[in-house]
Amino acid sequence: MSAIRAIGVHKAFGDCHAVDGVNLDIEPGEVVALLGPSGCGKTTMLRLMAGFERPDQGCIQLDGEIIAGGKTFVAPEKRNLGMVFQDYALFPHLSVRGNIAYALGRHPDPERVQSVLDLVGLGELGDRAPHELSGGQQQRVALARALAGTPSVVLLDEPFSGLDAALRARVRGEVREILRRAGVTSVFVTHDQEEALSLADRVAVMCDGKIAQIGTPEEVYGRPASRWVAEFLGEADVLPGNIEDGWVECELARVPAEGVTGSAADVLVRPEAVALSYGPGAGGRKVVEAVVVEREFFGHDQLVHVELPSGRRIRSRSLSFPVWHPGDRVRVQLDGPVTVFATPAG
Ligand code: ATP
Repeated sequence: MSAIRAIGVHKAFGDCHAVDGVNLDIEPGEVVALLGPSGCGKTTMLRLMAGFERPDQGCIQLDGEIIAGGKTFVAPEKRNLGMVFQDYALFPHLSVRGNIAYALGRHPDPERVQSVLDLVGLGELGDRAPHELSGGQQQRVALARALAGTPSVVLLDEPFSGLDAALRARVRGEVREILRRAGVTSVFVTHDQEEALSLADRVAVMCDGKIAQIGTPEEVYGRPASRWVAEFLGEADVLPGNIEDGWVECELARVPAEGVTGSAADVLVRPEAVALSYGPGAGGRKVVEAVVVEREFFGHDQLVHVELPSGRRIRSRSLSFPVWHPGDRVRVQLDGPVTVFATPAG
């Protein structure tokens, strides 16, 4: 049985179809990211699950029971859910322990409070006030509070957006570890691809109120269901190609047409699948001469823009060395998977 399930859920605000026929099946213990650009409906979907919005159509089930849909609407506080808000929403006048105890109602079990504090690695800091904690520690208190009541599902709304870049990566790892250890089903909303891909078991990519694709991080990144998903989920360049006998011939390679028919197709190439070298290409692969036009350095890696003989530009991502300079003549070859899409009409 799914931990949480959405069937044909729809929610409009006036003319805006914020959530437009969403189906979701989340298994117990899964961590699922709702990922999409601003305005795609991911927060509304989370709020529908939480009970802060009512669906216009469709239904939502928690542990097999309908919590919203038809005549049924279970109030947020009656749903067995934990919430982690963007700003953590901790009570400033209560201690860490007090914040967690508050979530457990009138007779909080001190042992449960201590056990969730231990779970999030704050066992020693229960008497501190929230302002005496770092941003990352406050985040863990919010998570402990959400987990305290042993919820069926924890919902997290942009949980890392308040943290700076360096802290975010670390806290993300800690949160992943805590959610796994607690074995709790979790759904989190983010617009950050890296966050979704590194934290979730499955990623639901949303576009215009619909789920454009749901799958493991490797599936949605490596086998995107559409050009939109491919381009939203990371960098990609398009090389036009001609189809012949089930193969697509493009400037950098001849690749299987993957079921795309007709005479033309687009080959979507991620920068990390483009290898640059000074020497001859590796065994049997197509190699073309190109010129470096730009290089972006990121410390751990670099993105090098090269111009192919056709004048088309393509990006290559590689480790930081060798250092390429604009004007360098390089050899380019494909060294990784690509995705073939039908050429858009028009
Ligand atoms: P963001 O990342 O910017 O938070 P989102 O993907 O979470 O975006 P939602 O907040 O779910 O998107 O909003 C989806 C659409 O619904 C948007 O066009 C938004 O303007 C609209 N919307 C959301 N809530 C309301 C509301 N209470 N009243 C009117 N329109 C709303």
